[in-house]
Amino acid sequence: MALIPCSECGSDVSDKATACPKCGNPISTQAGTAAATTSSTPTPKPGMGTGMKAVLWVGGALVAFLLFGAIAGNQPGAKEKATDQMAIELCRKDEADELKSIATRKFIRSTCDAMERKFSDRYGHAP
Ligand SMILES: [Zn+2]
Repeated sequence: MALIPCSECGSDVSDKATACPKCGNPISTQAGTAAATTSSTPTPKPGMGTGMKAVLWVGGALVAFLLFGAIAGNQPGAKEKATDQMAIELCRKDEADELKSIATRKFIRSTCDAMERKFSDRYGHAP
């Protein structure tokens, strides 16, 4: 145990004491200063928290990007529209085939109507 002079009043204070017994001035020994510096500096914790957050953020961005791509990919193109129109046309021709039974033609007609409804939903007008 060593005695060090108090920085405030100059009296000898034990280096094990945290404060001067005469004036109450906190004793700053080498170890004490180092400890204070360490505790006051916020060291980023390299735990799972930060890493997981980053992974989730990147994952979320990726999912959003993929969803956007899927929506953009679902936009009907001119080629697809022509194909759909042709399919409905062929369907109507099939429906008009008098060699087919009434039951078959009724079934075909309902299929054609469904196709037309789908077309109207997609392109905003009847084929
Ligand atoms: Zn003192």
